[in-house]
Amino acid sequence: MSTISIAGVDVDTRHWIGGQRVASSTTFEDVSPIDGTLLGNISRGGRAEADVAVAAAKAAFPAWARLTPAERAAILHKVADNLEAHIEELSQIETLDNGSLLRSHRRGVMPRVVMNIRFFADYAVEQLKHPVFQTRGHDNVVSWDPSGVAVIITPWNAPLMLATWRIGPALASGDTVVLKPPEWSPLTASYFAELAHEAGLPAGVFNVVQGFGVEAGAPLTENPDVARICFTGSVPTAKVIARAAAENLVPCSFELGGKSPTVILDDADLDLAVDLAIEQYDNAGQVCLAGTRLLVQDGIADAFAERFAVRAAQIRQGDPRDEETQIGPNIHLKHIERVQGFVDRARSDGATIAYGGEVNTELGTHYFKPTLVRDARPGSEILTQEVFGPVLTMQTFSSDEDGLELANGTEFGLAACVVTGSRERAEAFTQRLVAGTIWVNCFFVRDLSAPFGGSKKSGIGREGGVWSFDFYADVKNTVFAPNGWK
Ligand code: NAD
Repeated sequence: MSTISIAGVDVDTRHWIGGQRVASSTTFEDVSPIDGTLLGNISRGGRAEADVAVAAAKAAFPAWARLTPAERAAILHKVADNLEAHIEELSQIETLDNGSLLRSHRRGVMPRVVMNIRFFADYAVEQLKHPVFQTRGHDNVVSWDPSGVAVIITPWNAPLMLATWRIGPALASGDTVVLKPPEWSPLTASYFAELAHEAGLPAGVFNVVQGFGVEAGAPLTENPDVARICFTGSVPTAKVIARAAAENLVPCSFELGGKSPTVILDDADLDLAVDLAIEQYDNAGQVCLAGTRLLVQDGIADAFAERFAVRAAQIRQGDPRDEETQIGPNIHLKHIERVQGFVDRARSDGATIAYGGEVNTELGTHYFKPTLVRDARPGSEILTQEVFGPVLTMQTFSSDEDGLELANGTEFGLAACVVTGSRERAEAFTQRLVAGTIWVNCFFVRDLSAPFGGSKKSGIGREGGVWSFDFYADVKNTVFAPNGWK
């Protein structure tokens, strides 16, 4: 069987290369985290498939690059329209495959997927206009030119959202793409290929190679015909990819892990602080941006902890297809083992597990309970390393200066959330926070035109708006001599 039937759609389990389905001789199992059922067997790519896909993308590049941004945008709008017409199917496929909430997919994530394609298509037409500037009478004309084949490698926590926010600007720039979707949730990438093809995206402009990182991902990053590598995932994998990219001197964009703080200053609105802290459990904690370290100022720490415990106890965990569910399952048994390991080691290291700390066995094997860890040893693993599960820690601090030191006290710098009643305090605090994105009295507000990325070990580079084009395109300056025509 080379298809899996979900939501009335047959999702193909083979690669998508050069406008055709391509099977591998071996497959891997794709299991739903909702109940552990086998969804199907997916073509397991390796170097051969990776090389053929890069060759297909390279062959398609000249014609795609020659189109004007407006001509590309016209096709990309048709792709976006077709995605929009299939939001329900995309939502159901993604939920079954990665266990994230169906209602979030329907109302937030998949509409955003559509926007990822439309926004960057339009941006390339309307916004990429650097004013001509003069230097000693010479005109400098800046342009963003297509760069070649972009390899995009994505993780499982928000597969299609994370993929399309790179596919959009890459294709709008005139690059062609090879996507390596995550092995634990590969299905929406395959369905995206189908919908894009139906909408008229030319063969070879977009390709999908499925499989494991070392087998299918690594050969893509080593291929000398690749012009850009965009990787979203963990720090250890980024280091391997950086070494491969160094061999061919290929620019990389890395969006990696985090251990972000949610800082609650003592003048914060407590209800808002509790709301924002509870949000950090979203997607069962499998959010790179999650502010999993709750840092609460002394004066309000007890009141906050009391209210937070009441709210946490009310969180409804269950089947992600149920409208009432707030937290679904975690992705994979191996991942749950990893999360449990963090909690167990924290406990052995003297921390208190205020609640949670284990799998909710009433729901099966994949549902780790929302967990709060307190009194952990300063500098210990649970306070400094990314767990990527529904596990928050709580620490207290006295002065703003102490809070800053705690907030900046990890090797990560992806995001931060600050809750305070004072603009002046917020400005003073955020000026010295090290993070790619900081939210004050809000969380997860992300406009596609804003820069996004991580500081320190959380990433290299920024994407979003013009920053995406600065990465995917070759930025060129053409200098015209004064009176150069005579
Ligand atoms: P991972 O690094 O294990 O895998 C990510 C992707 O890389 C997968 O598709 C995998 O197959 C591939 N891969 C693995 N080894 C490879 C290799 N040697 N060469 C090429 N590709 C390879 O990460 P994960 O566990 O799937 O994802 C979770 C991580 O992603 C967390 O650290 C999370 O914070 C991070 N993340 C970051 C962002 C962001 O925007 N900063 C967003 C989502 C997730």
